[in-house]
Amino acid sequence: MAQYDYLVVGAGISSAVFVHEATKVGKTCLVIDRRDHIAGNIYTAEQEGINVHVYGAHIFHTSIKRVWDYVNQFAEFNNYINSPVAVYKDELYNLPFNMNTFAQMWHDVRTPAQAKARIAQQVAEAGIGEPANLEEQAISLVGRDIYEKLIKGYTEKQWGRGCTELPASIIKRLPCRFIYDNNYFNDRWQGIPMGGYTAMVERMFGNVEIRLGVEYKDLIAEQPDIADKVIYCGPIDEFYDFKLGTLEYRSLRFETEVLEEENFQGNAVVNYTEREVPYTRIIEHKHFEFGQQPKTIITREYPADWQPGDEPYYPINDERNSALYAQYEDLAAQEGRVIFAGRLGGYKYYDMDKAIDAALDLVERELGIAIG
Ligand code: UDP
Repeated sequence: MAQYDYLVVGAGISSAVFVHEATKVGKTCLVIDRRDHIAGNIYTAEQEGINVHVYGAHIFHTSIKRVWDYVNQFAEFNNYINSPVAVYKDELYNLPFNMNTFAQMWHDVRTPAQAKARIAQQVAEAGIGEPANLEEQAISLVGRDIYEKLIKGYTEKQWGRGCTELPASIIKRLPCRFIYDNNYFNDRWQGIPMGGYTAMVERMFGNVEIRLGVEYKDLIAEQPDIADKVIYCGPIDEFYDFKLGTLEYRSLRFETEVLEEENFQGNAVVNYTEREVPYTRIIEHKHFEFGQQPKTIITREYPADWQPGDEPYYPINDERNSALYAQYEDLAAQEGRVIFAGRLGGYKYYDMDKAIDAALDLVERELGIAIG
């Protein structure tokens, strides 16, 4: 007989949701992760009294009520609102694109009607109809000036490709609004879990057994029948030994520094939108939690090419990779014992709330429990 009902591979947020619900109904779970910590990419580590977002800034935001109710069981969220500032050469702009940005870009523009007229004029000059790529989509939304100064360089360094070779969908993540409102997200709820994401995920896992620094393939080679079922939150192509090919990602490199000053940039997120600055943004972690510590910690975020073995961050949802993922999905559909989940299992650019929502769907399907 198997030792556990479920072996859950990966100790991130998707895993934590599933394990929390499974243990509540009496299922036994073993969680493993190859890293030496839990919480996946939302892992925060305390340094100088500051919760550092080790794998890049994570700001929780959602419009899905059941997800908001769900996470509030495990943490109290503060009232942080993300309002990044963009630096282009010696100019400073508010993000996302809103009336503040338009008025900063065009000094004769004050009203929504004036902003819309200026954008329409620049769209007409560019001769764009139905946008065919990111460049055309961006110019249609905000005009050429904002595209050139705030989008082109940032996007090209983030993705390592020209804006005419990128899908319009990427830019649709960003709000564009004709009111004076610097809130980066349109979502109903937003905040940072007080005490850090790691503590939140720890509470979700409760007393379940977690083994860190453990490779799935090693464990399963030694004990093939350790569990009745496997919830696999690792990369789906790796599970199949890359036999159909490798799914590609865009990666990131972080340079983190402790500074002997209290307040370095006055904001949690400052984007550097010109092509010549090699990083895309500087994160000052304390501002996510209104920290008053005597020192500060900043992280420069550098986009990076991805090679097998590097940390995977952003899936590349182009034709090749989407077709390859579909083939792996066909293999996955034939599995009896293994269920794929999470960002890596599903090869998806998930925001945290979407990852939790998908994990709640899995709970409903697999355990027959309806949540929210
Ligand atoms: N973007 C941009 N300029 C900015 C910030 C974002 O052009 O100052 C565009 C860019 O194409 C980027 C996309 O918006 O790829 C999404 O950016 P965001 O920073 O929201 O993505 P994240 O990496 O935080 O998920």
